[in-house]
Amino acid sequence: MTSRQTPAIVLQVRDYGEADRLVNFLTPDAGRVSGVAKHAKKSRRRFANCLEPLNRVIFHLSPCPRGDLEFLQQGELVNSFPNLRRDLRRLAAAAVLAELAGELSTPPETTGAIFRTLNQALEHLDAGADPDSLLPPFLLHILQLGGYGPRWESCRECGREPAPPLYFSVPRGGVVCGACSRGAAGPLLPLNPGAWKLLRLAATLPLEKLTRLRFPPSQRDQSLAVIQNFLRHHLGRNLKSWAFWEKMTRATSGPGSR
Ligand SMILES: [Zn+2]
Repeated sequence: MTSRQTPAIVLQVRDYGEADRLVNFLTPDAGRVSGVAKHAKKSRRRFANCLEPLNRVIFHLSPCPRGDLEFLQQGELVNSFPNLRRDLRRLAAAAVLAELAGELSTPPETTGAIFRTLNQALEHLDAGADPDSLLPPFLLHILQLGGYGPRWESCRECGREPAPPLYFSVPRGGVVCGACSRGAAGPLLPLNPGAWKLLRLAATLPLEKLTRLRFPPSQRDQSLAVIQNFLRHHLGRNLKSWAFWEKMTRATSGPGSR
């Protein structure tokens, strides 16, 4: 049986039958892949510390005789991002980004870039990046790579440079100006000029410059509301990890903090 190796970021792990584990992971060449780790519950040596969500690993795979599953022969841990796991907000931001990357990494020409983007985000979060400023631009970047980039530069109705008050039209996938907002397709979400400028900039910056952006709380909240509603419109549901992010954000944004 031919075996091959691939870099991977673990997305989900669950029990599979008595002894096995079913692992969902992101790869640069094939996007999201599911594999069965045989006897992983008993024999931990072949997968020492590998089968944790968000771990960066090398998997040795062989094709399964039937279905879309692969057999996982063994794994080697590359990075478990230990610092990221010590901060629940950074962990929640990482979970949201990983889930979106898994959802959108299907067209083969984009899987490598989506893998690199998620890996960069995990490395930055592990190095202490502020999740409030990291999450919106990295979500946008993954959306763009997946072919769902919202449009910021001109009003989706009149095509002009948008003048405040600005709104985001969820079904039109972009900004609309105040004058056009009456006839525009809704839901419409308010967008303050600061958030609009940051999102517009985030959409044009290359990956390595995304961490230069700073999103203060009001800009963060509006930006994430826009992205969340836009995602729900396209996926038909919320990302599961979004509730975790919101819970962690509420827990740390009480009076006197942030
Ligand atoms: Zn307009």
